[in-house]
This record gives sequence, structure tokens and C-alpha cells, in this order.
Amino acid sequence: MQNNSVFSTSVKFLKGVGSRKADILEKEFGISTYADFLTYYPFKHVDKSKFYSCLQAAQMLNTDIQIRGHIVDAKIVGEGAKSRLIALFSDGISEIELVWFKSLKYWSDYLRKDVIYIVFGRPTAFNHTINISHPEMRIENDDTQKDNIPFLPCYITSEKAKKSGLDSLNISKLCYQVLSEVHQQILENLPTSVLQQLHLMDRRNALINIHFPQNMELNEKAQYRLKFEEVFFMQLFMLRLKRMHKEQSNGYIFPKVGSLFNEFYYHHLPFSLTKAQERVIKEIWADFKSGKQMNRLLQGDVGSGKTITAVMLMLLAIGNGYQTCLMAPTEILAMQHYKSITKVLQNMPVKVELLTGSTKKKDRKLILPAIENGEIQILIGTHALVENSVVFNRLGFVVIDEQHRFGVEQRAKLWRKNIIPPHVLIMTATPIPRTLSMTVYGDLEVSKIDELPAGRKQIITKHLYQNHRQQLTHFLKSEIAKGRQIYVVFPLIKESETMDFRNLMEGYEAFKIDFPEPQYHISCVHGQLPTDEKEQQMQAFVSGQTQIMLATTVIEVGVDVPNASVMVIENAERFGLSQLHQLRGRVGRGAEQSYCLLVTGVKLTDVSKKRIKAMINTTDGFEIANKDLQLRGPGDIAGIKQSGALNFKLLDIANEKDASIIDIAYKQAASILAQDPELSLPQHALLKKYLIKLFKSKTYYKIG
Ligand code: ADP
Ligand code: MG
Repeated sequence: MQNNSVFSTSVKFLKGVGSRKADILEKEFGISTYADFLTYYPFKHVDKSKFYSCLQAAQMLNTDIQIRGHIVDAKIVGEGAKSRLIALFSDGISEIELVWFKSLKYWSDYLRKDVIYIVFGRPTAFNHTINISHPEMRIENDDTQKDNIPFLPCYITSEKAKKSGLDSLNISKLCYQVLSEVHQQILENLPTSVLQQLHLMDRRNALINIHFPQNMELNEKAQYRLKFEEVFFMQLFMLRLKRMHKEQSNGYIFPKVGSLFNEFYYHHLPFSLTKAQERVIKEIWADFKSGKQMNRLLQGDVGSGKTITAVMLMLLAIGNGYQTCLMAPTEILAMQHYKSITKVLQNMPVKVELLTGSTKKKDRKLILPAIENGEIQILIGTHALVENSVVFNRLGFVVIDEQHRFGVEQRAKLWRKNIIPPHVLIMTATPIPRTLSMTVYGDLEVSKIDELPAGRKQIITKHLYQNHRQQLTHFLKSEIAKGRQIYVVFPLIKESETMDFRNLMEGYEAFKIDFPEPQYHISCVHGQLPTDEKEQQMQAFVSGQTQIMLATTVIEVGVDVPNASVMVIENAERFGLSQLHQLRGRVGRGAEQSYCLLVTGVKLTDVSKKRIKAMINTTDGFEIANKDLQLRGPGDIAGIKQSGALNFKLLDIANEKDASIIDIAYKQAASILAQDPELSLPQHALLKKYLIKLFKSKTYYKIG
């Protein structure tokens, strides 16, 4: 944390911590040095001056309270897995129960009748008694409990750690010990100008007050300061990276529009571009001419027309003599792209090829040399494209579809294929809320297609309970009678793949009964089908031979069948909000009125109800993404967790107040770098040192 040996001292050297406890601290909480302790932040504080009586506990259900009293009796009741320890706890007037379900032996040995305890926890009502399960206990007048600590910090701990004496209270004592030893040596890492401008608490005080505040106002200030610090360094790092990309990496220059682009634009484009598409093409063309390598994120809701935009940009690159490639996250998507792109370019003199993991050996033998000699101008595929055997002649422009499935590593691998890295465009339909994109994609420029092609009808979204199947079948038949096609999607969640597979298969059987041949035909696609069979099933649906497509989420992204106008999502309660939105985006592409039907069980959790409601109320991807962030937190949004970019300990991206800190930190970081890009001014020396240290450490991810 600081370039000071004190902070890297092992926790072994703390009083009361031997190698066994040190081991547990490391394994359970990742605390191995003094510095780690300082940033093992408490999740709340208890006002030590406030006590409640057992009688009041009944009025304080499900809130944390403190009670002073003694143990009247304690016994283990029940058998086997149902056994528990129940202690009768009295404040001298009335009683409540304390209950333990785990570590019974440990706790029954721990409890004494001859001391006054201060018990902390959440009372609940059960069978007409008030009880607190797994309370935190401390003995009053415990001499190590300093009296100058008016607010006791509470730390996350585990059963295992508790058994070794590392409960929240003991962790707080160790933390107190660390702070007493090192607080004099805690140095500021933010420039004075920033501290003053934003009225931030200095670092030493912040680290003291985040753990042991004299009052909660100081704690709030400490939190604010430390949250700011977390994002500020992240932003500084990302912005510097972006700058370095810009300054250091020379990029190919595509000086002319070229006849290919013009021919397509004027003679083959089947519709007119939306304003947003035109704007994005201009933005990117400016990058192509700049002499710097482009790294750009293209955000656009499903169906906003990202693909055709990318294709036109590819024509620009090809017109300047370069090769291009398009990487998709799955084979099905790569295939879909290949089909739709060859179709849209059918009258154009452009050589397009497909390369995936299942490309046959003899085809590979033909394709690879054609890539190497530059004959293939658009190569479409999966990660097969980053294999070493694929050597381009003049790769100038790379498009990556749905980047959240591609790691940063893979991106970097493609770049290494050239001495001069190609321009990179990452397309995503996951509408990432602004605060998130600022942190996760801080190293990328962002373009947005924020408009759908004209003439799209609003999709009607409805919620149906599973036991109303007849109604559903009836409706689907009437749509099929109008010549429409239908998607039916079943959940696919990794942990229970076999179960999901069964679900899908049972669903398939049920649909075959409700929609019998020869009148109806059904395609069924799932992960366990061989590629060519998948392909056949898809093809049957795309060509209109089958009216219903049953699938797991393989069709989540990218599939384009304009005639499909109904999306049925089975077990909709098992999908995340953004995922539901993506699926809905598969319909509503043609001129017909489209429907999205969310089928769920009767019993729904609150979160599921909110998701369904959000889906019914809005079709705006960004609104959905924000709602999703609020409902699930950033960790769950596809791919963002893996990126590791959100390892904030304090800052909560889904919280609006905290999101405003991101803005402020971004502005500060940007203005410092504008004034001192290399951070070489003396007032930024500490900043630079800290930044380098921080991003070398394993907790943050390295890019490229
Ligand atoms: P995305 O990849 O953003 O989800 P696509 O590029 O697949 O969207 O486009 C969705 C559909 O809309 C495609 O059938 C495409 O041909 C069509 N499309 C794209 N741009 C336009 C436009 N400007 N006007 C009409 N249709 C368009
Ligand atoms: Mg797409």
C-alpha cells in the first residue's frame, strides 16, 4: 500500500496472532499484511452508548441492537442436523433467547453465567418468543475494549475464523493494534489541490475514522474520501492507458472513402441509414484517418443496426487495401453473421470467408493461405481467429461482436498479430450504464447508436403464469395462422445444465403434442447438438420451414429472423433483466406487431416481480440496464465480474450517490492528466508512485 516496510509487515507479528491465526486471516479474508488490515473495512458500526432492554427487542425486530445482560440457562436441544443451542438471556427484568445452529460445542463452552455480556444482533419473533440467532457476544469491561471507542466497528467474519477466536470484536482489536502502530506513517497520496477543492479528509484521518470514528459524521467523511480514492486511481490508470494507446500506438491510415464503400452505399444498401448510424460511421472514419490506432466501443440496443454499420466500415478498410475480420462469441453467431453479410454483399466484389473451430480440415487448408496472401478480405469467425495458424496479410480493422464474452487477453492477442495494431471496434448490445462504462471501459472511446431504424413497432410485453398454458397455445396458433414465426426460449444456467436440458426436452415434447405435425413444424436447438445439426435446425427456421424455434439461450444474441414476431420466454423468472431484454430484441425486426411473453411460475420473489414489471413498462435498453444494476449489483452483469475492473471495496456502483463520485473522480483525473500527462510534476510524485504500485498489485487487472 505504501512504499514503507511497516505496511508490508506480516500480521504474524501482531500481538495475539501466531502462524495459525495468520493463516486463517490470509485464507478467509485475504489479510496478510498490516496494510491489508487497514483496508479490511468494517461494514457497519455499533453505537456503544445505546442499549435496549429485552422488552424493547420485541419492538425492534430485524434491526441491529445491543442488549446488556446475563445468561440464565443454556442447553443444546434437538437431534442431528436439527440440533441447536438455546440460551436464555436476561437483562434483569425480562428475557429473550439466543440461538446457535452451528458450532454448538464451541458456543456452549464459551457461555458463562458469571459475567455480564453485551449481546449484539437482530431480534426475530419465532413461536411467540423473541430470539437472536448467532449474536455477537462480548464480556462487559473486557479490558482490551478501549473506552475511547464510542462506535464499535463490525467486520465480516466466518464461522471458521470465529472458532479460532477471530470474531468481529477480535478483528477490531487487531485492527486497532495495527492503527496504533502505524498511523503516524500513513502518508497522503492525493495532491493538496484535490483535497482542498473537494474538501476531502486527509488519508491518515480517513483510515482512522473508517474503523474507529469518534462520531458517524467523521465516518461518513472518511468513507467519502476513501471511495473517492478508489475510483480516482482507477480513472487515472484508465485515462493514462487511453492516452498511451493514443500517443504510442501508430495506426494504419485509411485516407480515402474508396469505391467499394460508395458503390455499396449508393447502390446496394437496402434501406437508408439512421442518423445515429451515419454519425457513428463519421466518428470512426475520423479515427481511421487520424494515424492513431482506434480502440472503440460501439454500444447499441439489439436491432439498432450495429452489424450493417460495421460492415460499411469494413468496406472502407478494404477500399484502402486492408483485410478485416469479425469475431463472434459463438459458432452459431459467426455463422449467422457470415450468412447475413455474404447476402448483403452478394453483388459486391468482396471475398468473405468463415473460419470456426468446426471448419473442416480440407477447407482450412484452402482458407489459411488465402488469408495469408490477402485474398480473403472479410474473415468471420470465433476465437479460432486468434489461433497461431491464422496469419493475415494486412489486417487493418477488427470487429468484435458482443465483447463481454471476450477477455481483454483475447483482444490483446489479436493486436499482436501485426506490428502496427489494427483498428478495433467492439460492438455490444449490453447497454452498459454510463458509470459502469466509465470504469470498465475507461480505456476505450465510446460510440453509440441510440436510435432504432424507422418503422419498428413497439413490442408488446405480457406476463403469463405457467398454469395458463392453454391461453398461450391458443395465442401462438393464431399468430402462426397469420404466417408468423415463434421463438420459445428455455433458461440455460451453467450450474444445472443437465436439468435445463431436461426442461428443454420436456418442453419440446409438450410442444410437439400441442403443435402436432403435419400442420406444425418445430426446430429445437441446444448446446448438446452437433454443430451441423444445430445449423440444420436453425436453417429450417430461418427459411420458414419450421414455425417454432425452441432453444436454450444460444439464440440470445445476434440471430436475425425478421418474420419471427413472438418471443416466449419460459421460466422468465430465472433470467436476468438484461438477458430478458436481449431476448426480446430478437423480435420486432419486421413490419408486424411483435410480442414478448414472459411465462413464470405462480410464486415469484420480489426481485423477479420487479424485473417482470420493468420489462412490461419499458423497452429502453439503457433504462433496463440501470434497473438491472440496481436489482442485481454490478457483479452480475455479464462479463463485468471477470474483468476485475470493479474490485472496489467501498464504492457501490449501483448506488446513485456513489455513482456521482465516479463522475467527480473522472473529472479530477482528467484535469490532472491534462496539466501533467506524465505525472512528472513534483506535486504529483506521490500520486505516480502510488499509481504504479497499485496497478502492479494483483488486486487490479492489467490490460493488454
Ligand atoms: P444489431 O446487431 O445492432 O442487433 P443488426 O445489425 O442485426 O442489429 O440489425 C437488425 C436488423 O435491422 C437487420 O435486419 C438489419 O438489416 C436491419 N437494419 C439495420 N439498419 C437499418 C436501417 N437503417 N433501416 C432499416 N433496417 C435496418
Ligand atoms: Mg448484432
